[in-house]
Amino acid sequence: MLLELRDLVTRYGAVEALHGIALDVGAAEIVALLGANGAGKSTTLKTISRVIAPASGTVTFDGRSLDGLTPEDVVALGIAHVPEGRRIFPGLTVLDNLRLGATPRRATRAEIDRDLDAVIELFPKLRTLATKLGWTLSGGEQQMLAIARGLMAKPRLLLLDEPSLGLAPLIVTGVMETIARIAREGTTVLLVEQNAHLALQIANRAYVLETGRVALSGPASDLLTSDEMRRAYLGSA
Ligand code: ATP
Repeated sequence: MLLELRDLVTRYGAVEALHGIALDVGAAEIVALLGANGAGKSTTLKTISRVIAPASGTVTFDGRSLDGLTPEDVVALGIAHVPEGRRIFPGLTVLDNLRLGATPRRATRAEIDRDLDAVIELFPKLRTLATKLGWTLSGGEQQMLAIARGLMAKPRLLLLDEPSLGLAPLIVTGVMETIARIAREGTTVLLVEQNAHLALQIANRAYVLETGRVALSGPASDLLTSDEMRRAYLGSA
């Protein structure tokens, strides 16, 4: 497995948010992390990227423990985290936002320009927006920019936190299709989504969190038809 979490416990002060999570992500898979508000999905991603250090348990990436590493070390190893809320730089142009995504790699200008072309091919709209400032972009455009900036780090594993949040349904479909394409081209994806139905359409496997524990897991196709999943997370439709 490319990523393995074992017995992962994370606390915010006295509050324990994750009570011992075990989760695997294989190379080139899309794994969805589902669950209600406050279940611990964002905390799981933050613990993997070491924005928060776990209280106990292990995160192993490509056979190497992430214990004691900084968030910068983790990016350098090949894990990019696109947090919830599209934190792009509002005062910088789209191109400069993208270039900043490549900072952790210490790549040459020529390499960065080549990767810019590849990323823009994935999100063609960004070409016409290249010189626009971040704050002038619509929500969907900002989300695309946030994902594209994450890809500029050339990650082996992309952690995506709620990419569909606040977007119109048509735009969401486009974002999901692009995530599927990113995985087909070889980048592994761990996708946090509140919209379970949507995530299960593109994921290989999924884990459902409930108050800091894994309540259900399995192949996406099984979860889409599971009675328990339908009752609790997919609605009866
Ligand atoms: P959401 O979709 O709302 O982001 P989530 O599944 O990602 O939900 P988390 O944000 O990981 O859930 O939150 C898990 C638990 O940790 C919740 O009980 C939440 O209140 C708590 N929590 C999250 N961030 C903090 C923080 N900075 N300080 C204290 N408690 C926090």
